[in-house]
Amino acid sequence: MADLYIDGEWTGAAAGGRRDVVNPFDASVVRTVDDADGTDVDRAVRAARRAFDDGEWAGAPTRRRADVLHRVYELLLRDREDVARIETQDTGKTIAESRLDVEDIANAFRYFAEIADKDGGRVVDVGPDVLSRVVYQPVGVCALIAPWNYPLLQATWKVAPALAAGNTFVLKPSETTPLTTIYLFRLLEEAGTPPGVANLVLGPGSTVGSAMTQHPDVDLVSFTGGLATGRTIMAGAAADVKNIALELGGKNPNVIFEDADFDAAVDYALDAAFLHSGQVCSAGSRLLVQEGLHDRFVEALADRARRIRLGNGMHEDTESGPLSSPEHREKVEGYLEVAAAEGARLVCGGRRPDDPELSRGFFVLPTVYADCDRSMRIVQEEVFGPVVTVERFRDEEDAVRLANDTKYGLAGAVWTSDASRAQRVAQRLRHGTVWINDFHPYVPQAEWGGFGHSGVGRELGPTGLREYQEAKHIYQNLRPAPSGWFKG
Ligand code: NDP
Repeated sequence: MADLYIDGEWTGAAAGGRRDVVNPFDASVVRTVDDADGTDVDRAVRAARRAFDDGEWAGAPTRRRADVLHRVYELLLRDREDVARIETQDTGKTIAESRLDVEDIANAFRYFAEIADKDGGRVVDVGPDVLSRVVYQPVGVCALIAPWNYPLLQATWKVAPALAAGNTFVLKPSETTPLTTIYLFRLLEEAGTPPGVANLVLGPGSTVGSAMTQHPDVDLVSFTGGLATGRTIMAGAAADVKNIALELGGKNPNVIFEDADFDAAVDYALDAAFLHSGQVCSAGSRLLVQEGLHDRFVEALADRARRIRLGNGMHEDTESGPLSSPEHREKVEGYLEVAAAEGARLVCGGRRPDDPELSRGFFVLPTVYADCDRSMRIVQEEVFGPVVTVERFRDEEDAVRLANDTKYGLAGAVWTSDASRAQRVAQRLRHGTVWINDFHPYVPQAEWGGFGHSGVGRELGPTGLREYQEAKHIYQNLRPAPSGWFKG
């Protein structure tokens, strides 16, 4: 069956392109899919444009759109195990994590279904002779570009609000992880999304992605991925003054004070750094530990890191899978060389595992570097792998200064049993999400996004819907009469 979905039809690529999708656990081919080019993108964007301009979806009662989203929520719950299995084969992450992802994905559809009709705009009080309303309308045709670490989750954070707001869109998943996104489109079709509203193209970012972002009929580009690509997209959007929303990752501080609950802080520091092999935009890859606790903490963390069970994500007892591709592993290994050259002290990991069972997969051992400082690239740049750096701090002031010393600003955490210090530090961190005595939770009701180089705009929460809306002011003079401004 063909894998592109354009104007309500499943279709192959115009030029007949095909691409293998590889399981990162053993480099086996999971499936071969259609691979689009600029011609397919043009077809998809035109279909989205027509569907938007005919007004059926954009002008439909909000409840109708919400019903489609709610149906997608139900279908995802029906098929949760299939979707989770495919996500694990495609990304290498553990099946337990994929199951949680599918739950979060379904909940995001439900959330946007629930808030879609809760905001009819607002009335501005201008006086008795005027009816002044601010209403929110869809932006238009959206180009949605998702990455490979949370393929369906990141796509959903764009698709659900885009649909709820009445937009039409063309979506491109990463070429390395398209399978659950193809599955989602079958569910969107089953849920009754009209032809042309939701369109899917597959293929590389350098051709298909860039054709989407540069297409003159696109009104908004929403992108999640790396900083370099984000910059290219932002610059490209300038030509047509397209709206943009960018989520570009982070280098996230996890700050541990001496009075923190030791066992909980170590346990979460492990999750923060090594969940999904560190391929998480909000990974706690930069650990800041107060002086008096430092040595004991590093020892305990490394001891746990050495015991993480790497393996096939499909096996229930695997605790961490491989990196997503050989190219990405090369990038991570490049950073291991950088860390060594910069004098970071390797405490554990720092290489591929010896286990012959893992030799065909793209694995790197969970890695801890101590004696790091903020002048190092390994401390400042996003590695996006199972690598955590540890720095020491003296006091609260020092902790805040270090934690904010990053060009990114996506997320951070503070661990302390002093409730007022926790709140003070949380207020001062320049990061889009701050956890206190926790790491990683996010909920669809709360905004997600970053300060600084972590991006532009927010996903999730009411702001996540606003990204896909334009505000319009409608001003009605209820008692029209000559103004008399010009006297002649
Ligand atoms: P990219 O930014 O290249 O990939 C993200 C998405 O953008 C993919 O769908 C990709 O397509 C697409 N893309 C690539 N180039 C363009 C372009 N010129 N125009 C439009 N779309 C494009 O990330 P990488 O895979 O190269 O990873 C690089 C680094 O980015 C990682 O090491 C990590 O640091 C960071 N990253 C951050 C993520 C986050 O969650 N914020 C997620 C992923 C990566 P395709 O893959 O098909 O080529």
